[in-house]
Amino acid sequence: MKILIIEDEQGLRETITAYLTEDNNICESCYDLQGAIAKLAFYTYDFVLLDIGLPDGDGFAVLNYLKDQTRSEAVIIISARNSLDDRIKGLNIGADDYLIKPFHLAELKARIIAVFRRKSTNSNNSLVFNEIVINLMGRSVEVNGSAIILTRKEYDMLLYFIANKGKVIAKTALAEHLWGDEMDMHDNFDFIYSHIKNLRKKILDLTSNDYLKSIYGIGYKFTDE
Ligand code: CA
Repeated sequence: MKILIIEDEQGLRETITAYLTEDNNICESCYDLQGAIAKLAFYTYDFVLLDIGLPDGDGFAVLNYLKDQTRSEAVIIISARNSLDDRIKGLNIGADDYLIKPFHLAELKARIIAVFRRKSTNSNNSLVFNEIVINLMGRSVEVNGSAIILTRKEYDMLLYFIANKGKVIAKTALAEHLWGDEMDMHDNFDFIYSHIKNLRKKILDLTSNDYLKSIYGIGYKFTDE
């Protein structure tokens, strides 16, 4: 998953970034409100981890921004402020969860998976698209009951496609999602094609349904329509 970490404590920001990167996520980070809004204006994420006490204002402004823009990022507030009012305010403005500092990184990971699951699936720990089943905890995939072995990028790509099923995904968005925000500096996205080709082949080895549609000149769409 692609995660934006908004946290002004450098040590904590770096610790969270290292932990979640090690856990196969693409992490971007910033340390204040201004930086957060600048990132969110240009890029999209699966998750935003949001500190409330920031040097240039409080993190609720980020929640209001996401709400005003009707964005789909999931938000987990990470805050030392343990007042009931703050929690209720955060959850009311649209945060999906609230974690009080200090917390264990393993708990943060569990909360991220729980929120993602709640937002995108109805079943336990898995994301299902017809005959394709993704096990989120084990990062494994089955098609028609048989396991397929995917590379890290293929897995992330499939997860992103299924989480955004039916939507057209631009090549730039796909590249930023899987390789990081700085990918928008590239002028050529041909390298994505080989990952797409391999992913499609592995799925088509086990099903006759080709869900991954190319949208000429734009990008891709994962759909069963
Ligand atoms: Ca802070």
